[in-house]
Amino acid sequence: MREIPGGIRSTCPYCGVGCGIVATETADGWQVKGDPDHPANFGRLCSKGSALADTLIDSGRLTRPLVDGQPASWDAALDLVADRFARTIAEHGPDAVAFYVSGQCLTEDYYVANKLMKGFIGSGNIDTNSRLCMASSVAGHNRAFGGDVVPGCYQDLEEADLVVLVGSNLAWCHPVLFQRLTAARGQRGTKVVVIDPRRTASCEIADLHLALAPGSDVALFQGLLAHLAMDGRVATEWVQAHASGIEAALVAAAMDAGRVADITGLEPGEIQAFYRLFAEIERTVTVYSQGVNQSSAGTDKVNAIVNCHLATARIGRPGMGPFSVTGQPNAMGGREVGGLANQLAAHMSFADPAAIERVGRFWGAPNIATKPGMKAVELFEAVADGRVKALWIMATNPAVSLPRADRVRDALARCPFVVVSDCWPTDTTRYAHVTLPAAGWGEKDGTVTNSERRISRQRPFRLAPGEARPDWWMLAEVGKRLGRHLSHSSAETWAHAFTYDGPAAIFREHAALSGFENGGTRGFDIGGLAELSDATYDALEPVHWPVPASGPAGGRLFADGGFFTPDRKARFVAVRYRPPVAAATEAFPFLLNTGRIRDQWHTMTRTGLVPRLMSHRDEPRLALHPDDARRLGVDAGDLVRVTTAEGTAMFKAEPSAEQRPGELFAAMHWTDDFTASGPADRLVQGATDPVSGQPELKATAAAVEKV
Ligand code: SF4
Repeated sequence: MREIPGGIRSTCPYCGVGCGIVATETADGWQVKGDPDHPANFGRLCSKGSALADTLIDSGRLTRPLVDGQPASWDAALDLVADRFARTIAEHGPDAVAFYVSGQCLTEDYYVANKLMKGFIGSGNIDTNSRLCMASSVAGHNRAFGGDVVPGCYQDLEEADLVVLVGSNLAWCHPVLFQRLTAARGQRGTKVVVIDPRRTASCEIADLHLALAPGSDVALFQGLLAHLAMDGRVATEWVQAHASGIEAALVAAAMDAGRVADITGLEPGEIQAFYRLFAEIERTVTVYSQGVNQSSAGTDKVNAIVNCHLATARIGRPGMGPFSVTGQPNAMGGREVGGLANQLAAHMSFADPAAIERVGRFWGAPNIATKPGMKAVELFEAVADGRVKALWIMATNPAVSLPRADRVRDALARCPFVVVSDCWPTDTTRYAHVTLPAAGWGEKDGTVTNSERRISRQRPFRLAPGEARPDWWMLAEVGKRLGRHLSHSSAETWAHAFTYDGPAAIFREHAALSGFENGGTRGFDIGGLAELSDATYDALEPVHWPVPASGPAGGRLFADGGFFTPDRKARFVAVRYRPPVAAATEAFPFLLNTGRIRDQWHTMTRTGLVPRLMSHRDEPRLALHPDDARRLGVDAGDLVRVTTAEGTAMFKAEPSAEQRPGELFAAMHWTDDFTASGPADRLVQGATDPVSGQPELKATAAAVEKV
């Protein structure tokens, strides 16, 4: 560990804002403050970030490998993992094994996991909990830009005159970005529009809140595109030079436009007010998050938004652009290494045979995967029906967080071999045959990439408890052992591929692959960082990608109007409105929406340790409209049972005029450790977006009764 005068600089492990922190050891233990020099937060922290020091607790951590619940040596546990994976591959083929990883993994962990599965085992079956987070944005970016690229940077929110928040409660889910927006609004009078079925905390600074019907965003933005065309706002010259497909997109938009008020349930006057603001204010940023992504039409929603920015040439310029904000600290880093089952590595695609050959050649891979693997929901279906027989889950808790959580538990219970590496025991570790103790935040060493494509260092400043080790090390050790078992190449090949003397070596390889035969054809290129020494890696300052070996680096992309498609033009996508898969019925008359609350993170393994964070919301609650509560005879604090086709769970009722009538909201955080009624995601249906595979976590038909 490197001592830095004044503290150790690192990055917050929670949301995709990626705030810099400074950790300082004092007589009372560690103190964590915002890093005044980090360009994501300039010293700010939210409630979760400022409570980080309180989570540095060794008690209760996983500190030794466990085999069938009994302590084992690392060698014994890793030998067993390699042996069982090798036997499964030999008997049933490489697609009978899978990894399910996490946006909590550092880029270096992710890189080794992806290389092991896709390059050496020979299967695409590595997916990530980022599938639940922003897979629809990835798919939408690929369709529109020819690459998974977020065009702008946080500064754009401060330089915009209009910020549209779509399906994003920025105030609670990306609080420091919200603080930056609020401060900018105070200085330049930025108009803010919130498009969300719920009246959230973000509405506190909104000039306009459109409480649209769940899942109707495509119709709203199709109407906007038609309005922009009718109002003469299309940047015809730019569109002709830099984009294709506007004609078909306009035809599709016109077909939806007449029905916008009916579909969205909004008043024509409020729709027109939004359309006028967007048409008249050039410096517009549209921020979108899980309300857009976690939908069976998530990819179409993304492209409906992007279409409006392309039509007005509001992209690649200061204060303008579509802006996907990711949920997790390293969702972006996972995308960079190919941590999604349908991506290859370094933003290369399985659809391109030359890319498969290129990645295989770079890795010296004996058995490169040639087709995408299974996406998260489908992957756990395959565990349930026996197609996947050996599964390694890393830094995530799918027994709580995946839709149909009870089916996930059944699948894990039936799976012949489950490995879980994590910092704490979770609902998922209960199903593990082998549990591997992982180093956590403050102990791990590597990099993460935030929502604006900025790579920052996570530096260790304390020792991991007991025998806990980094995820990349466990993966590399299993890789070396697998090489001795599997006959399709020599053990030396595997040993060479998985011998790293530290995270800097992994990062150099990752950076080199991104620049390998790139030539500006792929957006993700950090080839300019491939030669970092260990010392310069350690001291790496936050940096925006791309960082090519030669040519312009960082900042705002698409400023020159050149995209990553073969003809360098952006693509309009002719989307059409589709309603959510579930509709309210007589038996299930409500639609259930799930999401986050301000002071909790994921399944509370870390934030649940802090009493002051628990005091914000200390138990699972169900928000419902006061009229619905009255009809059900429910008062605030009453216990209610929510039933869906998937299961039941109990909550304290919280009547709230912030809800639309007929709609419910429950936080997704609570686990079996915190509530006897089970997680909210046991209620959620398994429908997914046909393009991105992202589950529809925000619209499940449900019934409510007072207990
Ligand atoms: Fe951490 Fe996000 Fe809060 Fe920043 S805004 S301190 S990254 S949780």
